[in-house]
Amino acid sequence: MSLPVLVVGAGPAGLVAALQLARRRCDVRVVDRSAGPASGSRAKGIQPRTLEVFEELGVVEEIVASGGPFPRWRTYREGRLAWEKSIYDLLGTGQPVADPAIPYPETWMIPQWRTEEVLRDALRRHGVEVEYDAAIVALDDGSGVTATIRRPRGDERLRASYVVAADGAASTVRKLLGVTFDGVTRDDERYVNADVRTTMLDRSYWHNWSQRDNPAARVSVCPLPGTDVFQFVAPLLPGDDSTVGLATIQRLFDERSDGVAVTFDDAPWIAVSRANERLASRFRIGPVFLAGDAAHAVPAAGGQGLNTAVQDSHNLGWKLAAVLRGAPDDLLDSYEEERRPIAARLMNGLDATDDRGEVTDIFQLRNNYRGRRLSVQTRPAPGTVHAGDRAPDGPLSLRDGSAPRLFPVMRDVELTALAFGARAAEESDAVLRRHAPADSFRVLDVREHSPSTADTIAAIYGVAPDEEALFLVRPDGHIGLAAGDCFAERLDTYLPHLTPGVTA
Ligand SMILES: Cc1cc2nc3c(=O)[nH]c(=O)nc-3n(C[C@H](O)[C@H](O)[C@H](O)COP(=O)(O)OP(=O)(O)OC[C@H]3O[C@@H](n4cnc5c(N)ncnc54)[C@H](O)[C@@H]3O)c2cc1C
Repeated sequence: MSLPVLVVGAGPAGLVAALQLARRRCDVRVVDRSAGPASGSRAKGIQPRTLEVFEELGVVEEIVASGGPFPRWRTYREGRLAWEKSIYDLLGTGQPVADPAIPYPETWMIPQWRTEEVLRDALRRHGVEVEYDAAIVALDDGSGVTATIRRPRGDERLRASYVVAADGAASTVRKLLGVTFDGVTRDDERYVNADVRTTMLDRSYWHNWSQRDNPAARVSVCPLPGTDVFQFVAPLLPGDDSTVGLATIQRLFDERSDGVAVTFDDAPWIAVSRANERLASRFRIGPVFLAGDAAHAVPAAGGQGLNTAVQDSHNLGWKLAAVLRGAPDDLLDSYEEERRPIAARLMNGLDATDDRGEVTDIFQLRNNYRGRRLSVQTRPAPGTVHAGDRAPDGPLSLRDGSAPRLFPVMRDVELTALAFGARAAEESDAVLRRHAPADSFRVLDVREHSPSTADTIAAIYGVAPDEEALFLVRPDGHIGLAAGDCFAERLDTYLPHLTPGVTA
């Protein structure tokens, strides 16, 4: 008997993959070679799209309660405040504004250990406990995969139908499979990352010092919401020793801040990292899938690493669950097709474009799968929202008097047919019944079910008042099919690509 899915690595990618499977009642085990959960702050910015994913996973309230907004950015020169700006002015995006289509407009600051803790707790509620001190050391490839898990008490050989390799940038699984990880590791670009305590800095600001004649000699100290620590980041310069303790952190600060009187009392976490920008040549190798940093080590600037890892697994998890229930195996090919170009674009910097000419959106809301095999666009004059895009949120006003948002309504089912017009709704209902279990989909006839906010949703989705349209929303909140006519026929052709059928 083989385990349906083995997840290797309990960082954000592994935890989200496991959660996506466990909430769909798929048997999954998660192994991690560390002795226990990681404690460092590492990635601290959760982007708006990731917050939406966390809402779908049922953990956004805890994430929001544990974090806070971006503090304002202060730059000091020669010991004095040079300027202060909102981070959004600094990024050139302008202050994000709340909007019915975008429930979480801002980047949310929360240390990575806490994000992982929230995800682990959610996984535990689904009956899955991370197995620590359990390292994958060998894989035998075949129709499934037999993994050797090394523990202090001995080895276990485990057969799994699928493996999610979420074992970080130094991925053992990727190396065992001989997948190349092309790009650069800049040994001369090293950074000290640490969590530090001090009572001598204002926790309302992200403080940054740099020297006018040597901009590389800089230091950044950012308060971490929900904690009493700051995240300290400073590049090490040629000649600086890589063995870093509290004394080195204090020295780097004193040298680079021109003697500002700040004492760091302790540093509960210190790491030295190298700039690493690499992309795996493949994300799928038969039954093995690379996710997160195992598939792409993206540049640190821009806070995309953890977010991209979460999006990978959110994309992969429901597809694995569907294929385990009988959906066609080539659904899994769409994982690499959809996720690799997004990671590839990040390799070229935040201003780079992808193979379709699209620019990176650091909030990850505009990341889309337009033109990929699962994105079928048949509206003759598509509005702003295309097949492949993230399905925007919107306000509902249901006839029973309730007024939920669209996202929580979509969250309860695998597939949502968002229908504009009775014909689109009726045909969707009839066809979905043939292809998917009744409790796995919902048809929402927007004009019929939500009359007083139908115009707002139509405007968000770019549907004209007299237009009929159908948006089929996938389990990961992206639009699979956007149709303007022949709804039954289009759905009949589309659905077999992602559903196992009602008899499975
Ligand atoms: C010092 C540091 C600072 C960072 N700062 C930022 C930042 O400011 N912003 C940002 O966006 N990103 C930052 N990152 C990157 C961010 O942390 C990663 O992008 C994110 O953790 C990726 O998640 P992941 O789940 O793919 O991998 P990881 O979080 O690396 O998790 C991989 C897991 O796999 C386990 N593992 C490894 N090998 C095996 C094996 N053979 N068997 C079993 N388990 C194994 C590891 O123990 C680990 O728990 C930072 C990273 C580091 C190290």
